[in-house]
Amino acid sequence: MHEMSIARNLLEVIERYAPANGSARVKVVRLRIGELAGVVPESLRFCFEVASEGTVAHGAELVIETVPLIGRCRTCGVAFHVEGYVFICPHCGSPRVELISGDELDVVELEVEEEGCP
Ligand SMILES: [Zn+2]
Repeated sequence: MHEMSIARNLLEVIERYAPANGSARVKVVRLRIGELAGVVPESLRFCFEVASEGTVAHGAELVIETVPLIGRCRTCGVAFHVEGYVFICPHCGSPRVELISGDELDVVELEVEEEGCP
């Protein structure tokens, strides 16, 4: 499943950045996900819940910001919102389109809660 592999990638990133002292839990994970990834937020939340079982991020809330898919025509320079994954300039019809945004899959911020003092 597409979302499951994304959830696993997220967990790898989170475990790299989360405090490794074992006393912290990740409460909130803020994400920026480009439209190009075609992620269904509800599906990603479900997969993340399953994949994070037994990790510091289990039970964390995913806050997902969707980044629109924006292309720019290399021929006439017009920037436009790409719909239906059609990379053709609506202004001049050129297929020479570069991607400006929309392929992000970034962890923006982790909110971590320390579980009291030892
Ligand atoms: Zn154009």
